[in-house]
Amino acid sequence: MKLCMIGTGYVGLVSGVCFADLGNNVVCVDRDKEKINSLKKGLIPIYEPGLEELVLKNYKNKRLNFSTNLHDSVKKSDIIFICVGTPTKKGGRGADLSQIYNVAKQIGKSINKFKIIINKSTVPVTTGDEIEKIILKKNKKSKFSIVSNPEFLREGEAIRDFIYPDRVVVGTNDIKSNKIIKNLYSPLISKGTLYLNTSRRAAELIKYASNAFLATKITFINELANLCEKTNINIEDISIGMGLDKRIGGRFLRAGPAYGGSCFPKDTKAIINTADRFKTNLSVIKSVIKSNENRSNLLLNRISKLLNNRIKNKKISFLGVTFKANTDDMRDSSSLAMIPALCKKGAKVSYYDPTGSKSEFKKYKNVYFNQNIKDALTKKDLIIIHTEWNDFKSINFKSYIKGKKPIIFDMRNIYSHVKMKQQGFKYFGIGRWINKLI
Ligand code: NAD
Repeated sequence: MKLCMIGTGYVGLVSGVCFADLGNNVVCVDRDKEKINSLKKGLIPIYEPGLEELVLKNYKNKRLNFSTNLHDSVKKSDIIFICVGTPTKKGGRGADLSQIYNVAKQIGKSINKFKIIINKSTVPVTTGDEIEKIILKKNKKSKFSIVSNPEFLREGEAIRDFIYPDRVVVGTNDIKSNKIIKNLYSPLISKGTLYLNTSRRAAELIKYASNAFLATKITFINELANLCEKTNINIEDISIGMGLDKRIGGRFLRAGPAYGGSCFPKDTKAIINTADRFKTNLSVIKSVIKSNENRSNLLLNRISKLLNNRIKNKKISFLGVTFKANTDDMRDSSSLAMIPALCKKGAKVSYYDPTGSKSEFKKYKNVYFNQNIKDALTKKDLIIIHTEWNDFKSINFKSYIKGKKPIIFDMRNIYSHVKMKQQGFKYFGIGRWINKLI
């Protein structure tokens, strides 16, 4: 099939290259000329394990192409995927749908034969109806079909998630479009993926509901971790004990920093905004957002206590700053709340991240990038393990740190506090009784 992905970001590029690998002809379109030129030279704009090999392979065999020409790319394709960003509106809570509507207008001007237009971006309920209205301005209803097919891939595991998803959700009442899309996904269905056909609006809501639920799970265990610290209980025992119940499941039940990333913060806010529009109170999700927003402050207070409330001139080092491992995505990472706050209090903050230095911190005088783990550990007062990269999972602290030992605050509970104590470190985790000592 001839597919056109509009928006070559995490979702558009990953799903585009995976569809190409499954034997389709795919053109990935973006308005960002630099991005498209880089991709044509084989340079991948994002960090995602396994992506580079797959892009190079499919570009070489000509099943994958890149373009800035939306008009021509739409004309030549049978199925168009909209994969542009839907960030939070500036100064508001709702999703900014300007990129979606802008693309819809352009598609409307480019339809030359029947097209299936699939929205993969995360959008509020009824956005599909709006896209349809926009395209109807220039085209007859018989010339196109608007479908919702939300994407559930996770950054860092995106290729695996795309090829082996738990489910493919397709929102359409159009039998013809459903048949074609089911056929497109047949290589995944034949390997056991569940294909769920719903109404368009239901598919739109399934995506937000899923993200809000996962955000709730994380927030729930984070709050319980606070209780564990005061009651001589290890939060990991709670996570395992709860997770073994098949009705609950153990994933997304590990305590740590506030959730972040390009999806949970914006999608929880957007679903609240949609519910408000329809005069419905989603009080659980509202309190999840509030609790998560408070979490970085709570951890900042903990940091302050660890340093006896003397933060000025303290050398604090972050291991990892991205919102999770295996991605370079900094969007809404909790490090963006914590590092500037520590800087403001006069700390000298450095960080090391396997995906390199981050433009987000360039404007702060007291923040600098360490080139490697060794530098990040040397001559520090406090080391914070912020992101669970494999690189940080078996550090021999003793071999790196000579002289005065820093405090280690492990926000991912990677290490055993007994072993760290034996090595002479003041080591603290999340939701562990040891924290009571402070
Ligand atoms: P992104 O910001 O990485 O990529 C979006 C791309 O769209 C950008 O490259 C931008 O230049 C391009 N674009 C915008 N307007 C355009 C236009 N008119 N023509 C051509 N290109 C245009 O975004 P993303 O992370 O891939 O997310 C896309 C959507 O998918 C969002 O709604 C997001 O919520 C959803 N989603 C994201 C993830 C994820 O892990 N990132 C997972 C599931 C769903």
